[in-house]
Amino acid sequence: MSAHPFHLGPVLVGRRHIAAAVRRVAEGILDDLHAEAGGGELTVVSVLNGALVFTADLVRHLDVPLRIETVRARSYRGDATTPGDLALRMEDVGALAGRHVLLVDDILDTGRTMHRLRAEIRQRGPASVRIAVLLDKPARRAVEIEADHVGLEIPDVFVVGYGLDHEERFRNLPDIHELRGDGA
Ligand code: 5GP
Ligand code: MG
Repeated sequence: MSAHPFHLGPVLVGRRHIAAAVRRVAEGILDDLHAEAGGGELTVVSVLNGALVFTADLVRHLDVPLRIETVRARSYRGDATTPGDLALRMEDVGALAGRHVLLVDDILDTGRTMHRLRAEIRQRGPASVRIAVLLDKPARRAVEIEADHVGLEIPDVFVVGYGLDHEERFRNLPDIHELRGDGA
């Protein structure tokens, strides 16, 4: 018997592919900003904890004046019939009026987190709101939402590493791995 019923599976996205994806996302963000008329500076809103590593790498490719704000999202998995409850903590987010807001998360899964967060952010009067995610699992979408910038689409597998956790483990891994159950 192992201490954990899950173990690290094979690498799904290696560090070099991650780095290339981060650069592509950054280029898309900069293209959008340059196309935007009428000024307004960038505020990056990073969804902790998962987006911590992605955000740190991403902002170093964004050679424009920007602020970084963080929100905390926690979803409690519901049972088979009720969707899990989502807790968003965003009381520390500064003024967003007139700013170009970029919501950054590790992965777009059911889409519920981004859907809620975007609605809350829009109430604060930003000049624009866009979404950037490193990973997208379109097969899992439960609400209608798309990211403006996606690093990589992945199949419906549970992944860890590069900020993504399983019960708070594995966030520090430099590559993205599949998580496997015992016997798999
Ligand atoms: P959504 O609201 O889109 O369903 O959920 C997004 C959140 O669920 C992500 O921010 C992430 O924390 C978590 N999540 C979704 N899929 C995965 C996955 O494959 N691995 C990990 N570690 N977290 C995931
Ligand atoms: Mg998350």
